[in-house]
Amino acid sequence: MENRVTLLGVRGSIPVSGEAYRRYGCATTCYLIELEGKAILVDAGNGILNLPRELMEYTEMTMLLTHPHLDHLMGLPMCPFLFRQGATLHMYAAVRGGMDAEAQVDALVAPPLWPVGAGSLPGVLICSTLPETLRLNTVLVESMEGNHPGGVSVLRITGGGKRVVVATDCTITEENRSALTEFAKDCDLFLCDGQYSQEEWPGHASFGHSTWTAAAELARAAGAKQTRIVHHDPTHTDSFLDSCAAELALTCPGCSFGREGEIIQL
Ligand SMILES: [Zn+2]
Ligand SMILES: [Zn+2]
Repeated sequence: MENRVTLLGVRGSIPVSGEAYRRYGCATTCYLIELEGKAILVDAGNGILNLPRELMEYTEMTMLLTHPHLDHLMGLPMCPFLFRQGATLHMYAAVRGGMDAEAQVDALVAPPLWPVGAGSLPGVLICSTLPETLRLNTVLVESMEGNHPGGVSVLRITGGGKRVVVATDCTITEENRSALTEFAKDCDLFLCDGQYSQEEWPGHASFGHSTWTAAAELARAAGAKQTRIVHHDPTHTDSFLDSCAAELALTCPGCSFGREGEIIQL
């Protein structure tokens, strides 16, 4: 299997729909990371419905949840993998708001918010607390705490001689910039929250996200080989993101705005 990442959903906050979003996509955060024959999902936004059919042949998969905000968890109740008899999904999430991974799932995937609990699906969901370092065969997962309301796990996934860093829902600040730069250093792919433009930043600075300019500067400082700006604001249409793309490429060669369905070879 090739080492690659598929962007199954790149929208932040809430899914969108309509002609204006055809190219960058409508679904919220979900990434499929394939390293050394191991398939790892990051987050369970409704992009999880784009899970490639061939992965349905797997009997086991791993999911890393950056944090349980709805845009990152809303796809879990309809996760196609969990509708397969004999499938086991191992989900790892840090304790958030005093709730462990299982309690976070149960808060959403249970009556009255959803008709059935995760335990009633044909597949098996096993929830565990995300440790700072996790070994999945030969793949290493490391996490550091990001800056986001309620907390977020910034993830570094290494395997097959490649390294992917996911920093979604994280405000880049003077305090965490050097730690984030070190964490993302020389990675092969950097997926970084860049929800806002500089013009939008005033009024949004406390929302727990970053500007795409700050994300691109961090990517350049870290020496990331490829970067995709993700967690696009629901108001950002294809034409808006296109209008920012040229400026983004100037700020950081190798950076672009992630598109739903995009497959990035590592
Ligand atoms: Zn989010
Ligand atoms: Zn969030």
